[in-house]
Order: sequence, then C-alpha cells, then structure tokens
Amino acid sequence: MRLVLKYGGTSISASKDIQTVAKHVNTLSKDNEIVVVCSAISGTTDDLIEISESIKKENKSKAEQLASKISNRHKQLAKQTIKKSDVRKKLFSILEEDFTELFALIDGMVLLGEVTSRSMDYLISFGERLSIKLVSAAINDSGKKSIPLTGKEVGIVTDSNFGESKPLIDTTRLRVLKTVETLFSKKTIPVVGGFAGADQHGHITTFGRGGSDYSATTIGSCIKADEIWLMSDVDGLMTADPKIVKNAKLLKEVSYIEAIEMALFGAKQIHPRTFEPLLSKKIPMKIRNSFNLKNEGTLVTASPSPDTKNTVKCVSSVKNNGLIDIRGGSMVGTPGTAAKIFATLAKAGINVMMISQNPSESSITIVVKNADLDKAVVSLEMELLGKIIKKLEITTDVAIIALIGSGMRGTVGVASKVFGAIEKDKVNVSMITQGSSELNLAFVVKNSDTNAAVRSLHDAFALDKTN
Ligand code: ASP
Ligand code: MG
Repeated sequence: MRLVLKYGGTSISASKDIQTVAKHVNTLSKDNEIVVVCSAISGTTDDLIEISESIKKENKSKAEQLASKISNRHKQLAKQTIKKSDVRKKLFSILEEDFTELFALIDGMVLLGEVTSRSMDYLISFGERLSIKLVSAAINDSGKKSIPLTGKEVGIVTDSNFGESKPLIDTTRLRVLKTVETLFSKKTIPVVGGFAGADQHGHITTFGRGGSDYSATTIGSCIKADEIWLMSDVDGLMTADPKIVKNAKLLKEVSYIEAIEMALFGAKQIHPRTFEPLLSKKIPMKIRNSFNLKNEGTLVTASPSPDTKNTVKCVSSVKNNGLIDIRGGSMVGTPGTAAKIFATLAKAGINVMMISQNPSESSITIVVKNADLDKAVVSLEMELLGKIIKKLEITTDVAIIALIGSGMRGTVGVASKVFGAIEKDKVNVSMITQGSSELNLAFVVKNSDTNAAVRSLHDAFALDKTN
C-alpha cells in the first residue's frame, strides 16, 4: 500500500514517543510505501506566534528568549531520542543551521520593526522545519533510510495568500509525485513538514492553524495514496466529547461530509480543508491514536457501509459564543439587507458561525465567537444602526449544540425527539438551524446548559449503543 502517515504535535513531543513513531514507521515500511507528514512539536507554533507578538512590541529580548526555549527543547529531544552517535551528530549540525537562521530572521524582523504576513509565515513555519529533522533522524536511528523535507522542498506550490494559502494543485502534483517517487525508488522514507509550502516566488506560505492535516491529504492525493492516517492522541471521532459524556463511543466509520461537519464542531480539531483533496479520488482516511495502535480508529470514506448509517452519529458542542439578534422594521421585504449585514461583518474580519432569519424577515440572528463579539457589534452599530437596523440584542456566553449524521435526511421525527429530550432538562433554546442537507441540526443554549443538553441527546439517540 501507498500510505501517508501524519503525526500531530502531541504524538512526537517526548523522546520515547518519537522512538515509538520511528519504530512503527520502520515496521510498516517493510510492506508499504510510506510518506510521513509531521506537525510541529506541541507548543512550538504557539511560541513562534508569541515571538511575532514580542517583535511587534519591540521586545527583542523576549523574542530571543522564546527562540532559545524552542532551540533548547529540540536539542534536548535530539539528545534523548537518538542513540547512534553519527546520526545524532548530523542531526545537531542541521538543527544548528535552522537555529542560526531563526535568530537571524528575528534580528531582521526586529530591525524592520514590522511583522508582515509574509515574514510571519516564514517565522511560524520553523516548527515543522525542526520536527521533521528529529523524526527523520529517529527513523535513521532505527535502521531505515529517511530524509526530512519541508513542504517547499517536497514541491508544494501555493498561491501567495500568506497565512491562508492554497496549493496550486497541478504544479504541486507534478512536483510532489516526482520527489516522492524518486525517494521511493531509493527506499528512502520522506518525512515532510506539514502546514507550509511556498508560492511561485519561493516565499514560504502556510495553510492556517492545524494545516498539517491539509498537507497530508494534499500529498496523499498527489501520490495517489491508498490510505491516509491522521495520527494524534485521540482514538478517533467520538459520539460526543468523552469529557462530557462518560460512555461516549468511538465511531468506526463516517462519510467525508459527516467528518467535515464533525471537524468544525468536534473535540478533535481537523483543518477545515483537509477533506477537499480526498473527495475526487475517494481516498480513505483513518483517524488513529499513535499511543493506542491496537485501536483501528475512525475510517472516513466516501460511502460508509450501511450498518454504520445511524440517523444521528454524534452530538457536538462549542461553548463561548455570542448571539446577536439584528432587528429592524425596514428589513422586511428589502432586498440586500442580509448582504449589507454580512458585508459589514466580513469587512471587520468576522467569521459568522450560525445564521437564521425568520420568514417575517423582521430579524436576522447570528452567532459569532465571544472573542469577535465586540468587534461585530461595533461594526454593525457604526455602519448600519439607524439605517436598516433598529436594534441589536446581544447574548454572551452561549453554546452551539450540533447533531450530525447523514441518516437524518428525510427521517421524520428527529427534531421532535431532540427538543423533547432537552425539554426535560428545562434547557432553553434560543436559536435553531438546519441546512437543507439535513446533515446537521444545530441550536443555541446557554453555556451552562451545554453538558446537560449533550448528555440528554446522547441518551435520547442511544449513542452509547453505537457499535
Ligand atoms: N503547527 C501548526 C499548528 O500548530 C500546524 C499543525 O499542527 O497542523 O497550527
Ligand atoms: Mg492539528
């Protein structure tokens, strides 16, 4: 099989875990062609972002202190992980080159006194540049040939939308396929840095937080992989967050479209564009736990087997959002009202998570993250209050509860079961949405009602009986 194995940061953050990963890759590589994709070691990307913040505040010593922290942590891991002295020596020398470049970059950014989106991407790509060297050396140490490659080096070419870039897929396919197949023919395992690529001018670009998942599926589709495994510290997708529901069950199989919904709401955060590259080639993906290999994890495919098609597959929740009810008499029957509201919010850079409008058209309700609430309200007040909007009513600290499952489509009685179940807990619902795809039924409750609502729904749909 041709396999892409993507490791999240928590799977490679301790020396024994890196050794376990190397051993697993070594074993699998006996019968399979393997590409490894790595995230940064956990916390590194956050530290790099903090460096950029320190630079903005002209606090050079803080920035350098953080860079030293990153460098010490990686050196420590290198020392503890790698046993063979020649492998270790080579690793130290290539890591040193990266640290020199990182400090030089910080110098340069401090000198200019600015953090552009381009220099930011260059800076935050360092986490993966470092982690791939550790993991690849550990594979060498276990006795297999391997080389580390950044996204740029493997051939991922993107547009120049720094921080939120997308691969130019045809060029990328040609380049990635060539690089990877050349290495396969030399029995060398590529360890590729996720999260980043480079634009046509060679400037480093990133895909947004969590982007290594997207790198893995992009590479998988370029090399026509048979399977892609996302390895992290959770067993897979669950029927609910196990922190809320004790008897939450692992989902054995879900469809791409269900997984997309679950990725947005669920406990296991997956980059939203991860599934895009898989759709046309229908490459199966597994979500697995690198610490619990006995568990097969969750299989994500185009068409799951019929016996796994429950009406509702999982109940997810996202706390800490704000709800804005936008009212105004002149909104009724006025084309363009919604466009103006959403254009205003878009201009302020606000991501709207939920929308509903009642047929009387006298109000539009939206949900945004608590953190965006202030900005959202200010921009609506400045631009539209007293014009198309008469009044804004705001509720903070609300949670979105979502039921996900393609079996809901056309099934009668789902909504009554949902609202009947939570009525017993006296949970008040302040907004409801269901897309016409009927894949996701979502509603809004107070933060403090979240756990009760999730548990009642998990019970009502007998999700603990999921097999
Ligand atoms: N290291 C990046 C992040 O922390 C990308 C990833 O881990 O997927 O967001
Ligand atoms: Mg991630």
